Amino acid sequence: MLIVMETHATPAQVQIVCAEITAMGLTPHPMPGAQRTAIGITGNKGAVDSSRLEQMPGVARVIQVTAPYKLVSREFHEENTIVDVSGVKVGGGRFIIMAGPCAVESAEQIDTIAASLREIGAHILRGGAFKPRTSPYSFQGLGEDGLKLLAEAGKRYHLPVVTEAIDNESLELVAHYADLVQIGARNMQNYSLLRRAGRCGRPVLLKRGMSATLDELLMAAEYIVNEGNPNVVLCERGVRTFADHTRNTLDLSAIPFVQRTSHLPIIADPSHGTGRRDKVIPLSCASIAVGADGIMVEVHPHPDSALSDGPQSLFPEQFRDLVKRVTAIAGVVGRHLN
Ligand code: PEP
Ligand code: MN
Repeated sequence: MLIVMETHATPAQVQIVCAEITAMGLTPHPMPGAQRTAIGITGNKGAVDSSRLEQMPGVARVIQVTAPYKLVSREFHEENTIVDVSGVKVGGGRFIIMAGPCAVESAEQIDTIAASLREIGAHILRGGAFKPRTSPYSFQGLGEDGLKLLAEAGKRYHLPVVTEAIDNESLELVAHYADLVQIGARNMQNYSLLRRAGRCGRPVLLKRGMSATLDELLMAAEYIVNEGNPNVVLCERGVRTFADHTRNTLDLSAIPFVQRTSHLPIIADPSHGTGRRDKVIPLSCASIAVGADGIMVEVHPHPDSALSDGPQSLFPEQFRDLVKRVTAIAGVVGRHLN
């Protein structure tokens, strides 16, 4: 349920309504807006008798929220959320590019690629240190050493960094070193990890599970926001289909759906979404055209010898071409890159 206060409602009236909600055994979430304050209510198991709240001074109307997710829904929060990643703002009209290797492999590798990415125009540096690999025999990431190398490269080239946490232990380390904590597709429904991510004190990048519906994605985000962390960026990274010309099927229709349903920013990942280097630039162009708030792409100084996801990693010069093309489209669709 959502309470919309009158335009001229006083802070004291908002407070009294919140106190009444608390007295009913429910949780109020006051959300000050440009025009008026709204108060979301969570914690109810069924319908709430709203008649008392409707009569209270300052209350304009009470809306029953039909969506199963509350805090992340647009019904609760009309304006777009802009997530501040150590100075880089995600959402609200800008188009953000997160780029870097699938995995941090060495000091030289991450330094070389960070220098190129910064010069070409990336906004956030990515690089996995804890890798959720299909095979236990594949490279699993450098762990904390990888986080240190990533953080150092980020500082050296003035790029905030994003990297994945795969469990409770790595989450603590990732939150210490990274500006944006990534929860990967395989963990989208790891609810205890989502709760912890909600308490980690960092913004969170939540990737869609490979067979998750958008309702499930938004419910997963609800877990994070419900812990008091409103700074969530969603990511469409492709879903499993019968198609075998790509690794996954990048579901670009997810972008406008989520933007209508939720106030959270959403980016696309054409690298994992396609698994093929030659598809990454076209689908990056499509992502900005369809309204995504940004993209995450894998770029490696030597993709052919990458320890993970080489076939989908761009060469630095391809990334330059990508930025050029995306910038051209930004001009047409009224977006800007920095
Ligand atoms: C990644 O970004 O490195 C990754 C493993 O992505 P996903 O969780 O989408 O597979
Ligand atoms: Mn990867």
